[in-house]
Amino acid sequence: EEDRRQRLRQVLDLAARLYHHLLTRTEYGKAARDYLQKRGIEHRTIEEFQLGYAPDSYHFLLRFMKRRGYDERLLMEAGLVAEREHSTGRPSYFDRFRRRVMFPIHDSQGRVIGFGGRMLGEGHPKYLNSPETDLFHKGKFLFNLHRARKVIRRENQAVLFEGYMDVISAWQAGICGGVASLGTSLTDSQARVIRRNAETAVICYDSDTAGNAAAERGLDVLKKRDCIVKVARMPDGMDPDDYIRERGSDSFRSDVIAQALPFAAFKLESLKKEFDLKDEEQRMRYLTRAVEVIADLPLAIERDHYLRRLAEEFHISLDALKQEHRGIASKKK
Ligand code: ATP
Ligand code: MN
Ligand code: MN
Ligand code: MN
Repeated sequence: EEDRRQRLRQVLDLAARLYHHLLTRTEYGKAARDYLQKRGIEHRTIEEFQLGYAPDSYHFLLRFMKRRGYDERLLMEAGLVAEREHSTGRPSYFDRFRRRVMFPIHDSQGRVIGFGGRMLGEGHPKYLNSPETDLFHKGKFLFNLHRARKVIRRENQAVLFEGYMDVISAWQAGICGGVASLGTSLTDSQARVIRRNAETAVICYDSDTAGNAAAERGLDVLKKRDCIVKVARMPDGMDPDDYIRERGSDSFRSDVIAQALPFAAFKLESLKKEFDLKDEEQRMRYLTRAVEVIADLPLAIERDHYLRRLAEEFHISLDALKQEHRGIASKKK
Protein backbone atom coordinates (compact mmCIF):
# COMPACT_ATOMS: atom_id res chain seq x y z
CA GLU A 1 0.00 0.00 0.00
CA GLU A 2 2.75 2.45 0.96
CA ASP A 3 4.51 1.16 -2.11
CA ARG A 4 1.56 2.10 -4.30
CA ARG A 5 1.42 5.64 -2.90
CA GLN A 6 5.11 5.88 -3.60
CA ARG A 7 4.47 4.89 -7.23
CA LEU A 8 1.69 7.48 -7.45
CA ARG A 9 4.03 10.18 -6.23
CA GLN A 10 6.69 9.10 -8.70
CA VAL A 11 4.38 9.23 -11.68
CA LEU A 12 2.95 12.62 -10.68
CA ASP A 13 6.41 14.04 -10.24
CA LEU A 14 7.48 12.68 -13.59
CA ALA A 15 4.34 14.13 -15.22
CA ALA A 16 5.14 17.56 -13.80
CA ARG A 17 8.64 17.36 -15.19
CA LEU A 18 7.36 16.16 -18.56
CA TYR A 19 4.85 19.02 -18.83
CA HIS A 20 7.47 21.54 -17.73
CA HIS A 21 9.94 20.24 -20.27
CA LEU A 22 7.33 20.39 -23.03
CA LEU A 23 6.49 23.98 -22.17
CA THR A 24 10.00 25.30 -21.85
CA ARG A 25 12.09 23.28 -24.28
CA THR A 26 10.00 21.96 -27.14
CA GLU A 27 8.10 23.05 -30.19
CA TYR A 28 4.89 21.67 -28.63
CA GLY A 29 5.09 24.37 -26.00
CA LYS A 30 5.59 27.30 -28.34
CA ALA A 31 2.00 28.59 -28.35
CA ALA A 32 1.76 28.21 -24.57
CA ARG A 33 5.03 30.11 -24.10
CA ASP A 34 3.67 32.93 -26.23
CA TYR A 35 0.42 32.86 -24.30
CA LEU A 36 2.16 33.14 -20.92
CA GLN A 37 4.41 35.87 -22.20
CA LYS A 38 1.38 37.80 -23.42
CA ARG A 39 -0.06 37.46 -19.94
CA GLY A 40 3.08 38.95 -18.45
CA ILE A 41 4.38 35.76 -16.86
CA GLU A 42 8.16 35.97 -16.63
CA HIS A 43 10.64 33.19 -17.24
CA ARG A 44 11.67 33.04 -13.58
CA THR A 45 8.03 32.56 -12.64
CA ILE A 46 7.61 29.63 -15.02
CA GLU A 47 10.61 28.07 -13.29
CA GLU A 48 9.53 28.88 -9.73
CA PHE A 49 6.05 27.42 -10.19
CA GLN A 50 7.24 24.66 -12.53
CA LEU A 51 4.52 25.58 -14.99
CA GLY A 52 4.01 23.16 -17.84
CA TYR A 53 2.10 22.37 -20.97
CA ALA A 54 -0.02 19.36 -21.87
CA PRO A 55 -0.09 19.01 -25.66
CA ASP A 56 -3.23 18.67 -27.76
CA SER A 57 -3.10 14.88 -27.87
CA TYR A 58 -5.08 11.97 -26.41
CA HIS A 59 -2.05 9.80 -25.77
CA PHE A 60 1.08 11.89 -25.42
CA LEU A 61 1.46 11.36 -21.69
CA LEU A 62 -0.02 7.88 -21.82
CA ARG A 63 2.58 6.62 -24.29
CA PHE A 64 5.42 8.39 -22.54
CA MET A 65 4.52 6.80 -19.21
CA LYS A 66 3.90 3.34 -20.62
CA ARG A 67 7.33 3.36 -22.21
CA ARG A 68 8.66 4.00 -18.73
CA GLY A 69 6.82 1.07 -17.24
CA TYR A 70 3.86 2.82 -15.59
CA ASP A 71 0.59 1.04 -16.33
CA GLU A 72 -2.77 2.51 -17.17
CA ARG A 73 -4.28 1.54 -13.84
CA LEU A 74 -1.71 3.62 -11.98
CA LEU A 75 -2.12 6.56 -14.36
CA MET A 76 -5.87 6.40 -13.72
CA GLU A 77 -5.33 6.38 -9.98
CA ALA A 78 -3.02 9.38 -10.35
CA GLY A 79 -5.77 11.26 -12.21
CA LEU A 80 -3.56 11.74 -15.25
CA VAL A 81 -5.65 9.70 -17.66
CA ALA A 82 -9.36 9.01 -17.98
CA GLU A 83 -11.04 5.95 -19.37
CA ARG A 84 -13.90 5.42 -21.74
CA GLU A 85 -15.83 2.31 -22.54
CA HIS A 86 -14.75 1.00 -25.91
CA SER A 87 -17.15 -0.69 -28.36
CA THR A 88 -15.25 -3.94 -27.77
CA GLY A 89 -16.13 -3.69 -24.09
CA ARG A 90 -12.52 -3.09 -23.16
CA PRO A 91 -11.86 0.29 -21.57
CA SER A 92 -9.55 2.62 -23.40
CA TYR A 93 -7.51 5.31 -21.75
CA PHE A 94 -6.67 8.82 -22.82
CA ASP A 95 -4.80 11.85 -21.48
CA ARG A 96 -6.98 13.84 -19.15
CA PHE A 97 -5.15 17.13 -19.75
CA ARG A 98 -4.87 18.29 -23.34
CA ARG A 99 -3.95 21.66 -24.79
CA ARG A 100 -3.63 23.12 -21.30
CA VAL A 101 -1.15 25.23 -19.38
CA MET A 102 -0.39 23.08 -16.35
CA PHE A 103 -0.14 24.24 -12.76
CA PRO A 104 1.33 21.55 -10.49
CA ILE A 105 -0.32 21.38 -7.08
CA HIS A 106 1.81 20.25 -4.13
CA ASP A 107 1.19 19.00 -0.63
CA SER A 108 2.66 20.88 2.32
CA GLN A 109 5.93 19.02 1.88
CA GLY A 110 6.24 20.11 -1.71
CA ARG A 111 5.35 16.80 -3.33
CA VAL A 112 3.20 16.94 -6.48
CA ILE A 113 -0.30 15.61 -5.74
CA GLY A 114 -2.28 16.93 -8.70
CA PHE A 115 -2.68 19.56 -11.38
CA GLY A 116 -4.80 22.42 -12.48
CA GLY A 117 -4.87 22.95 -16.22
CA ARG A 118 -5.95 26.07 -18.08
CA MET A 119 -7.20 25.75 -21.61
CA LEU A 120 -4.86 27.45 -24.04
CA GLY A 121 -7.07 30.12 -25.53
CA GLU A 122 -10.83 29.67 -25.50
CA GLY A 123 -12.57 26.38 -24.74
CA HIS A 124 -14.50 24.47 -22.12
CA PRO A 125 -13.98 23.97 -19.33
CA LYS A 126 -11.56 26.86 -18.88
CA TYR A 127 -9.93 25.17 -15.91
CA LEU A 128 -9.71 21.46 -15.31
CA ASN A 129 -8.34 20.04 -12.08
CA SER A 130 -7.18 16.56 -11.14
CA PRO A 131 -10.03 14.42 -9.81
CA GLU A 132 -10.02 13.33 -6.17
CA THR A 133 -7.40 10.61 -5.76
CA ASP A 134 -5.73 8.89 -2.83
CA LEU A 135 -3.28 11.79 -2.69
CA PHE A 136 -5.35 14.73 -3.93
CA HIS A 137 -8.23 16.08 -1.87
CA LYS A 138 -9.51 19.44 -3.11
CA GLY A 139 -10.86 20.59 0.22
CA LYS A 140 -7.70 19.87 2.17
CA PHE A 141 -4.91 21.52 0.26
CA LEU A 142 -4.10 25.05 -0.73
CA PHE A 143 -2.31 25.88 -3.93
CA ASN A 144 1.17 27.29 -3.23
CA LEU A 145 1.15 26.69 0.53
CA HIS A 146 4.48 24.88 0.58
CA ARG A 147 6.21 27.86 -1.06
CA ALA A 148 4.33 30.58 0.78
CA ARG A 149 4.42 29.11 4.27
CA LYS A 150 7.67 30.72 5.38
CA VAL A 151 6.48 34.17 4.33
CA ILE A 152 3.03 33.59 5.80
CA ARG A 153 4.57 32.74 9.15
CA ARG A 154 7.02 35.62 9.10
CA GLU A 155 4.35 38.17 8.20
CA ASN A 156 1.75 36.42 10.33
CA GLN A 157 -0.57 36.91 7.40
CA ALA A 158 -1.82 34.82 4.50
CA VAL A 159 -3.39 36.22 1.34
CA LEU A 160 -6.18 34.20 -0.21
CA PHE A 161 -6.85 34.25 -3.93
CA GLU A 162 -9.42 32.55 -6.14
CA GLY A 163 -7.20 31.46 -9.00
CA TYR A 164 -3.78 30.06 -9.75
CA MET A 165 -3.01 32.98 -12.03
CA ASP A 166 -3.79 35.41 -9.23
CA VAL A 167 -1.38 33.69 -6.84
CA ILE A 168 1.28 33.69 -9.52
CA SER A 169 0.83 37.32 -10.60
CA ALA A 170 0.82 38.40 -6.97
CA TRP A 171 4.06 36.51 -6.43
CA GLN A 172 5.59 38.40 -9.36
CA ALA A 173 4.33 41.60 -7.77
CA GLY A 174 6.12 40.79 -4.52
CA ILE A 175 3.20 39.35 -2.56
CA CYS A 176 4.67 35.96 -1.72
CA GLY A 177 2.30 34.80 1.01
CA GLY A 178 -0.50 33.98 -1.43
CA VAL A 179 -2.46 30.74 -1.63
CA ALA A 180 -5.64 29.62 -3.40
CA SER A 181 -8.26 27.03 -2.69
CA LEU A 182 -8.58 24.55 -5.50
CA GLY A 183 -11.64 25.48 -7.51
CA THR A 184 -14.02 25.18 -4.56
CA SER A 185 -15.00 27.64 -1.90
CA LEU A 186 -12.80 27.75 1.16
CA THR A 187 -13.33 24.77 3.47
CA ASP A 188 -13.06 24.56 7.22
CA SER A 189 -10.02 22.33 6.93
CA GLN A 190 -8.28 24.94 4.73
CA ALA A 191 -9.16 27.64 7.24
CA ARG A 192 -7.53 25.56 9.96
CA VAL A 193 -4.39 25.21 7.90
CA ILE A 194 -4.27 28.97 7.43
CA ARG A 195 -4.83 29.64 11.13
CA ARG A 196 -2.04 27.25 12.07
CA ASN A 197 0.37 29.42 10.10
CA ALA A 198 -0.91 32.97 10.63
CA GLU A 199 -3.31 35.06 12.63
CA THR A 200 -4.50 37.28 9.79
CA ALA A 201 -6.06 36.24 6.51
CA VAL A 202 -6.55 38.75 3.70
CA ILE A 203 -9.25 37.71 1.25
CA CYS A 204 -8.42 39.00 -2.22
CA TYR A 205 -11.05 37.49 -4.50
CA ASP A 206 -12.30 38.61 -7.88
CA SER A 207 -14.35 41.77 -7.81
CA ASP A 208 -17.48 40.27 -9.33
CA THR A 209 -20.71 38.76 -8.05
CA ALA A 210 -19.25 35.27 -7.65
CA GLY A 211 -16.13 36.63 -5.98
CA ASN A 212 -18.06 38.78 -3.51
CA ALA A 213 -20.31 35.89 -2.56
CA ALA A 214 -17.27 33.65 -2.11
CA ALA A 215 -15.61 36.35 0.03
CA GLU A 216 -18.65 36.49 2.32
CA ARG A 217 -18.59 32.72 2.75
CA GLY A 218 -14.83 32.59 3.21
CA LEU A 219 -15.07 35.30 5.83
CA ASP A 220 -17.43 33.26 7.97
CA VAL A 221 -15.36 30.10 7.64
CA LEU A 222 -12.19 31.95 8.69
CA LYS A 223 -13.92 33.80 11.52
CA LYS A 224 -15.11 30.50 12.97
CA ARG A 225 -11.49 29.42 13.15
CA ASP A 226 -10.59 32.61 14.94
CA CYS A 227 -8.70 34.37 12.15
CA ILE A 228 -8.44 38.12 11.93
CA VAL A 229 -10.00 38.62 8.52
CA LYS A 230 -9.48 41.47 6.10
CA VAL A 231 -10.93 41.96 2.66
CA ALA A 232 -9.03 43.57 -0.21
CA ARG A 233 -11.04 45.44 -2.80
CA MET A 234 -10.51 46.21 -6.44
CA PRO A 235 -12.52 48.09 -9.05
CA ASP A 236 -15.63 46.20 -10.23
CA GLY A 237 -14.99 43.42 -12.68
CA MET A 238 -11.26 43.04 -12.00
CA ASP A 239 -9.37 40.16 -10.52
CA PRO A 240 -5.93 40.50 -8.89
CA ASP A 241 -4.16 39.36 -12.03
CA ASP A 242 -6.02 41.96 -14.15
CA TYR A 243 -5.30 44.64 -11.58
CA ILE A 244 -1.57 43.97 -11.54
CA ARG A 245 -1.37 43.99 -15.30
CA GLU A 246 -3.34 47.23 -15.61
CA ARG A 247 -2.13 49.21 -12.62
CA GLY A 248 1.17 47.65 -11.69
CA SER A 249 2.76 45.85 -8.78
CA ASP A 250 3.36 48.88 -6.57
CA SER A 251 -0.26 49.90 -6.69
CA PHE A 252 -1.35 46.33 -6.00
CA ARG A 253 0.77 46.16 -2.88
CA SER A 254 -0.01 49.61 -1.51
CA ASP A 255 -3.57 50.28 -2.72
CA VAL A 256 -5.07 46.79 -2.63
CA ILE A 257 -3.28 44.54 -0.13
CA ALA A 258 -2.18 47.21 2.34
CA GLN A 259 -5.61 48.87 2.21
CA ALA A 260 -7.58 45.69 2.85
CA LEU A 261 -10.57 46.51 5.04
CA PRO A 262 -11.04 44.95 8.44
CA PHE A 263 -13.92 42.51 8.57
CA ALA A 264 -16.43 44.90 10.15
CA ALA A 265 -15.68 47.78 7.82
CA PHE A 266 -16.10 45.45 4.87
CA LYS A 267 -19.42 44.14 6.17
CA LEU A 268 -20.72 47.66 6.72
CA GLU A 269 -19.60 48.73 3.30
CA SER A 270 -21.22 45.83 1.47
CA LEU A 271 -24.39 46.31 3.52
CA LYS A 272 -24.49 49.93 2.39
CA LYS A 273 -24.83 48.85 -1.22
CA GLU A 274 -28.22 47.31 -0.41
CA PHE A 275 -29.76 50.66 0.48
CA ASP A 276 -30.40 53.97 -1.23
CA LEU A 277 -28.91 56.22 1.42
CA LYS A 278 -30.40 59.39 -0.04
CA ASP A 279 -33.80 58.11 0.99
CA GLU A 280 -34.46 58.84 4.64
CA GLU A 281 -36.48 55.69 5.28
CA GLN A 282 -33.80 53.49 3.71
CA ARG A 283 -31.07 55.32 5.57
CA MET A 284 -32.78 54.44 8.85
CA ARG A 285 -33.07 50.81 7.79
CA TYR A 286 -29.40 50.75 6.93
CA LEU A 287 -28.51 52.17 10.33
CA THR A 288 -30.56 49.53 12.11
CA ARG A 289 -28.89 46.75 10.14
CA ALA A 290 -25.47 48.33 10.64
CA VAL A 291 -25.98 48.37 14.39
CA GLU A 292 -26.87 44.68 14.19
CA VAL A 293 -23.59 43.98 12.41
CA ILE A 294 -21.72 45.94 15.05
CA ALA A 295 -23.50 44.14 17.88
CA ASP A 296 -22.05 40.90 16.50
CA LEU A 297 -18.46 42.06 16.96
CA PRO A 298 -16.61 40.26 19.72
CA LEU A 299 -14.73 43.16 21.29
CA ALA A 300 -16.30 46.09 23.13
CA ILE A 301 -13.64 48.49 21.86
CA GLU A 302 -14.39 47.42 18.32
CA ARG A 303 -18.11 47.95 18.84
CA ASP A 304 -17.48 51.36 20.30
CA HIS A 305 -15.20 52.35 17.44
CA TYR A 306 -17.72 51.46 14.73
CA LEU A 307 -20.66 53.02 16.55
CA ARG A 308 -18.72 56.28 16.74
CA ARG A 309 -17.89 56.13 13.07
CA LEU A 310 -21.50 55.53 12.20
CA ALA A 311 -22.64 58.42 14.38
CA GLU A 312 -20.18 60.78 12.70
CA GLU A 313 -20.93 59.59 9.21
CA PHE A 314 -24.68 60.06 9.56
CA HIS A 315 -24.70 62.99 11.96
CA ILE A 316 -26.72 61.29 14.61
CA SER A 317 -26.09 61.19 18.30
CA LEU A 318 -23.91 58.44 19.62
CA ASP A 319 -26.35 58.06 22.50
CA ALA A 320 -29.18 57.16 20.17
CA LEU A 321 -27.01 54.57 18.43
CA LYS A 322 -25.89 53.11 21.72
CA GLN A 323 -29.44 52.83 22.88
CA GLU A 324 -30.33 50.99 19.69
CA HIS A 325 -27.31 48.80 20.18
CA ARG A 326 -28.27 47.91 23.75
CA GLY A 327 -31.71 46.91 22.53
CA ILE A 328 -30.27 44.55 19.96
CA ALA A 329 -27.62 43.21 22.32
CA SER A 330 -30.20 42.33 24.98
CA LYS A 331 -32.47 40.63 22.42
CA LYS A 332 -29.53 38.44 21.36
CA LYS A 333 -29.19 37.00 24.87
P1 ATP B 1 -7.86 33.45 -16.18
O1 ATP B 1 -7.34 34.74 -15.67
O2 ATP B 1 -6.82 32.50 -16.64
O3 ATP B 1 -8.97 33.59 -17.18
P2 ATP B 1 -9.04 33.12 -13.56
O4 ATP B 1 -8.15 32.53 -12.52
O5 ATP B 1 -9.29 34.56 -13.53
O6 ATP B 1 -8.48 32.64 -14.98
P3 ATP B 1 -11.74 32.48 -12.87
O7 ATP B 1 -12.78 32.20 -13.88
O8 ATP B 1 -11.77 33.78 -12.16
O9 ATP B 1 -10.37 32.26 -13.60
O10 ATP B 1 -11.73 31.28 -11.85
C1 ATP B 1 -10.95 31.34 -10.67
C2 ATP B 1 -10.47 29.98 -10.27
O11 ATP B 1 -11.57 29.10 -10.09
C3 ATP B 1 -9.57 29.27 -11.29
O12 ATP B 1 -8.23 29.63 -11.16
C4 ATP B 1 -9.80 27.84 -10.97
O13 ATP B 1 -9.00 27.44 -9.87
C5 ATP B 1 -11.23 27.82 -10.54
N1 ATP B 1 -12.07 27.45 -11.68
C6 ATP B 1 -12.61 28.28 -12.61
N2 ATP B 1 -13.33 27.60 -13.52
C7 ATP B 1 -13.26 26.31 -13.14
C8 ATP B 1 -13.80 25.08 -13.66
N3 ATP B 1 -14.54 25.06 -14.76
N4 ATP B 1 -13.52 23.94 -12.99
C9 ATP B 1 -12.76 23.93 -11.88
N5 ATP B 1 -12.22 25.05 -11.35
C10 ATP B 1 -12.46 26.22 -11.96
MN1 MN C 1 12.94 24.37 -15.60
MN1 MN D 1 -10.54 35.49 -12.06
MN1 MN E 1 -8.05 36.13 -14.29
